[in-house]
Amino acid sequence: MSAVVVFIDQTEVSTSPGHPVLSKSSQELLTLARLAGEPVAAVAGEASDELAAALGGAGVSRVFASSQDELTGYLVAPKADFVAQVATAAGAAAVLVGNNFEGKEIAARVGIALNAGVISDAVGLTVADGAITVQKSVLAGSYTVEASATSAVSVISVKSNSVDAEPAAVPATAAVEQFTAEFAPASLGAKIIERTPKPASGRPDLSDARIVVAGGRGVDGNFGPVEELADVLGAAIGASRAATDAGWIEHSAQVGQTGKTVAPQLYISVGISGAIQQKAGMQTSKVIVAVNKDAESPVFEIADFGIVGDLFDVLPQATAEIKRRRG
Ligand SMILES: Cc1cc2nc3c(=O)[nH]c(=O)nc-3n(C[C@H](O)[C@H](O)[C@H](O)COP(=O)(O)OP(=O)(O)OC[C@H]3O[C@@H](n4cnc5c(N)ncnc54)[C@H](O)[C@@H]3O)c2cc1C
Repeated sequence: MSAVVVFIDQTEVSTSPGHPVLSKSSQELLTLARLAGEPVAAVAGEASDELAAALGGAGVSRVFASSQDELTGYLVAPKADFVAQVATAAGAAAVLVGNNFEGKEIAARVGIALNAGVISDAVGLTVADGAITVQKSVLAGSYTVEASATSAVSVISVKSNSVDAEPAAVPATAAVEQFTAEFAPASLGAKIIERTPKPASGRPDLSDARIVVAGGRGVDGNFGPVEELADVLGAAIGASRAATDAGWIEHSAQVGQTGKTVAPQLYISVGISGAIQQKAGMQTSKVIVAVNKDAESPVFEIADFGIVGDLFDVLPQATAEIKRRRG
């Protein structure tokens, strides 16, 4: 079986109690990697015993780890050098990375380094006779196409929540090899000079969350009811561009063509009209619930459940009812 390298970035992982040692999106990548071949982990950062055990549980027997300063002190290019060199060392047929901004940049740079085809926005993959076919979401999520790289190595960036993360049927024992990457001078061209941690919201990360409650212009500057519903559901908060442009919520909450792409189990759209650029970032969500006071709003065309009503009436009732049922 061919090696499939999965990039596991531990450089900014929280060490707070209760935080999983292996992020949900990494577990999803490893689940897909097992379908495509033999998963090999390229770990940027420390490969602790706990991480090695988690990787073993995901079927990884080979781990290449590097804690070199360049992986934390610079922007994304050194990570791409590391991943490309691990892929070569492992004789990989494929490289899997996340589909966030950083993951896509790593994919592009690894593609250049390995002269490999790059497929982004992947939502699944199948393997027949050793050849990998990737299902890819295109045209603002309105179509899924199948694509395969014609190069020896395929570099694939996979959207979060595309597969259910599962442990390996047969766990492996992960052997950790320390790997020393060589960094191209140009890769060290942009150094990080300061870091300001984002204040912890206690909510899940928007890209990984199983439930997202998103507010739009309809909230009219008051995200309170959206936040209350999100908190009772353990959800992340998203927003339309109208809401982020108005400064009602930080830009990182924007979902859509020029914001984040999310595919949660449940997306609750509140006071959002459902413009094509908003749909681009959320229409592959498993279940979409829309709350909008205009019955003709385009968001209802893609909603599985629609509530025509004023969000300031609907949301507090929903929040109160969920709280009541949970006792
Ligand atoms: C190049 C480009 C990129 C873009 N990228 C993005 C992107 O990434 N993400 C994005 O979201 N947009 C993006 N946009 C903007 C997009 O076209 C829309 O303008 C934007 O999504 C509208 O946001 P909205 O739905 O919140 O606002 P509106 O379209 O103004 O809709 C507000 C909705 O709230 C409803 N409403 C009002 N009051 C209430 C109430 N009290 N209760 C219930 N419902 C109520 C209204 O009926 C209406 O449907 C982009 C546009 C361009 C040109």
